[in-house]
Amino acid sequence: MPERPLAYDLPLEGFTDLLAGWGEPAYRARQVWQGLYRHYWNHPGQFTILPGGLRSRLDESLRFDPLAPSTTLESTDGATVKTLFELADGNAIEAVLMRYDPATHSGQGRRTLCISTQAGCAMGCVFCATGQMGFKRHLSSGEIVAQAIYYARTLAAAGEKATNIVFMGMGEPFHNYENTMAAIDRLNDQRGYNFGARRITISTVGLAPFIRRFAAEKRQVNLAISLHAADDDSRGRMLPVNRKYPLADVLEACREYIQSTGRRVTFEWALVAGVNDTPEQARLLAGLLKGMLCHVNAIPLNPTAGYSGQATTRQRAEEFRAILEQAGIPCTVRTRRGIDIQAGCGQLASRKDMGWNI
Ligand code: SAH
Ligand code: SF4
Repeated sequence: MPERPLAYDLPLEGFTDLLAGWGEPAYRARQVWQGLYRHYWNHPGQFTILPGGLRSRLDESLRFDPLAPSTTLESTDGATVKTLFELADGNAIEAVLMRYDPATHSGQGRRTLCISTQAGCAMGCVFCATGQMGFKRHLSSGEIVAQAIYYARTLAAAGEKATNIVFMGMGEPFHNYENTMAAIDRLNDQRGYNFGARRITISTVGLAPFIRRFAAEKRQVNLAISLHAADDDSRGRMLPVNRKYPLADVLEACREYIQSTGRRVTFEWALVAGVNDTPEQARLLAGLLKGMLCHVNAIPLNPTAGYSGQATTRQRAEEFRAILEQAGIPCTVRTRRGIDIQAGCGQLASRKDMGWNI
């Protein structure tokens, strides 16, 4: 028997068609949809509003539990939770929940979900644990959606809600463009989870044609670009994809995005001691970004098993920031989070593949 499709793979219209084929009225489809996205039910047995026959048919036809949470790790400060999910085919992915303390962060009670779009990643960025494990496969839209709904369910049990979703987990979202956008549409659907597009951020390594496509679609979703170096030689050594889409191409696509959407772009920069935390790189970067509606997010490198580069110091990070700010480019130096459980940016990889003993 072929593997059943995932309930989360279907938009509401898909449910309406499926159930119509079974002779069910449209309101039944809406009930299923609300069960999934308002109550976060993940087993047909929970849909007691439906007749028993329909529940059994749903159970036979669809999978409601695509992700099996197999390990949950909490950072020592309790603010970051990382979950390892087993997929039906034996692959594994990770997602992260970050709680921000209302007393110390401006975003009161922010709850950010960091979601994966692929098992592994084909882009091979040298400093990233996901890149180091290689590409396994794309996630379906339903597998992407299910990560957010898993956390929606666990947060709801504590009377909390997700406030932000970032596509910064495992994988390159623009390499799995269609499924990622379908997942966003489903999470955004007002008839279901109703998660605002403006509170969603996609981070890409810089696949220029897809930045252009994304620009043309004029979504309200925020865009972040992983830059990390300001000349093609250095960037190509860190991000092999730069050989295909060099800096000029990526930045031109970003300018088109800003022009057509009027939205600000965030550039991400993992500061590696002696590599890209130098005043020269800061000055080059300032030159590249001059006049652009943008913001630079710099973060000291998170350690990974396969890369020997070291995080910059606080002082170097501040000097880097100061050079950009003097040139009129807004820059924030982020604090690292969840390092003790390998839940920081670029540290996500399934234990199986990395042989981690945690
Ligand atoms: N594939 C996408 C999104 C996932 S990575 C992308 O590359 O943008 C999320 C962010 O973490 C990216 O900005 C990435 O460059 C960054 N990152 C990867 N490895 C890192 C590390 N070891 N330390 C800090 N940031 C890292
Ligand atoms: Fe993939 Fe992003 Fe990691 Fe690069 S940084 S290997 S694109 S997940």
